[in-house]
Amino acid sequence: MRITHGDLDRFVEQVRPYTEYGQIVEYIPALAKVDPSQVSIALHMLEGECVTAGDTEETFTIQSISKVLSLAYILMERGEAEVFHRVGMEPTGDPFNSIAKLETNRPNKPLNPMINAGALAVTALMPGDGLEERWERFRKFLSALTDKDTLTFNDEVQQSELETADLNRSLAYFLRQHQVIQGDVEELLQLYTRQCSIEMNCQELARIGAVFARDGICPTSGESILPPYIVRICKTFMVTCGMYNASGEFAIKVGIPAKTGVSGGILGIVPGVCGIGVYSPALDEKGNSLAGWKLMELISRTYDFSMF
Ligand code: GLN
Repeated sequence: MRITHGDLDRFVEQVRPYTEYGQIVEYIPALAKVDPSQVSIALHMLEGECVTAGDTEETFTIQSISKVLSLAYILMERGEAEVFHRVGMEPTGDPFNSIAKLETNRPNKPLNPMINAGALAVTALMPGDGLEERWERFRKFLSALTDKDTLTFNDEVQQSELETADLNRSLAYFLRQHQVIQGDVEELLQLYTRQCSIEMNCQELARIGAVFARDGICPTSGESILPPYIVRICKTFMVTCGMYNASGEFAIKVGIPAKTGVSGGILGIVPGVCGIGVYSPALDEKGNSLAGWKLMELISRTYDFSMF
């Protein structure tokens, strides 16, 4: 399949007007400072080429997109039985940070690992002794996915998140009360906010998508990074829960396994074809990138990417 920079450039300019109708996230103050008119996209084709368009040098924090990466990591480290003892496999139909079903669901474990409560339960399983060692081990795992050893998190965003994370903190205490997690809640919050604050551009995000699109094989070295069964679990969660409580609509309109974040990033996987990284920070009312969604829709329709 031949997709050119010129094609993507046209699509980016076509969706850019939508950025005016979205809102920048406000509950994490450091995220509120960005220019809302930005739009960028990268398609990392499995043959190796990365086609890009828009404001591609712009970096952003990956926020909830990290939930797919921590899930893949913990499935590798701890195995399916341990993970699914602590989180379920069902969509909630609620916003990503909702506490409602945690209380009413029996047992009181998070319904899936793509909502905040579920991601906290997954991150709590990160192995290692203390914050720095646990972080460093996760960072090493991510380096293989991005093919980059210099992966960092944005300090300012992380601090800002920590200071405003009382809802996440309360989810974590609730989980500890119900024995879903153990250990120090503040250390967990530190780890979780670091993973949310990992910074990259859309090319790097698309490169991660390409590993998943190739069933866990590195698109450059041909080396196996993730077992195919873990890729399958991640892709399935991306379809059922990846776009928050708009996942059903996204599956119908776009049909690509995807994971969104409140910074306006979207990770997409077109199995056997490419990984997609999109960034546009103005969000719709459910917290998905407004122009990013439109861009994914356009690309999926043009190239017949829907898996359904
Ligand atoms: N760091 C954000 C939070 O925990 C991530 C949420 C998101 O991207 N949906 O609230």
